[in-house]
Amino acid sequence: MDTDIQLLLELQEIDQQISKLKKLKEQIPQEIEALKKQKEELIFRFEKIHTDLKKAEALKREKELDIQSYEDRIQKIQEALERVRTNEEYKALLREKAQIEEMIMEVEDEILSLMEEVEKLKEEEQKLQQIIDKEKEEIDKKISEKEKELENIEQQLKELEEKRKDVASRIKPQLLSRYELVKNKKGTAIAIIDSDTCTGCFLIIPPKVYSSVVKGEGLLTCPHCGRFLYYQPK
Ligand SMILES: [Zn+2]
Repeated sequence: MDTDIQLLLELQEIDQQISKLKKLKEQIPQEIEALKKQKEELIFRFEKIHTDLKKAEALKREKELDIQSYEDRIQKIQEALERVRTNEEYKALLREKAQIEEMIMEVEDEILSLMEEVEKLKEEEQKLQQIIDKEKEEIDKKISEKEKELENIEQQLKELEEKRKDVASRIKPQLLSRYELVKNKKGTAIAIIDSDTCTGCFLIIPPKVYSSVVKGEGLLTCPHCGRFLYYQPK
């Protein structure tokens, strides 16, 4: 037959497993959230490059149209130059032409740097495209592993709660309520005596209590912290 202390120790073991699993159970949803965020960031990064690329391409097209209209204007100036009558008019037209040519050069520089940007973004987009699917898959795999782990923990907790009920039912009600009381207050309700010290509160146990515990003369508690005392022969 199990002694009181053996049953209490069994209960404590179950309680420690339960609290460990509960901590894990709390952690996992946060880990899943972090993974989901990682995936979102990946998608966001890709979308940003894609948007930047589209913007740069649109701007480049816009600039090319600008050049087109500048060239049209130069064509018109060219035609006007042939019909010009006064020297003043002639000079004014040439000035305008030179200004437009300068603007064309500026826009051409802009187009050149936009082309470089487009190339760079295309490269980045391609590189990311290659890794993104694989990374997303890996993250999804990790998420489903975590979800499975959570299910496992819930199952284990259910089993432990059942086991706990069974063990608790075999403990004298008075001892059980004392166990719960001390456990709720101190975290653990049973402490091993090491030499003459309670390993729960690390205070010295009176010699009389100590020798009774060592001899196994009934269930005693630490006078300082209230934990059940347990002697483990070395
Ligand atoms: Zn103690």
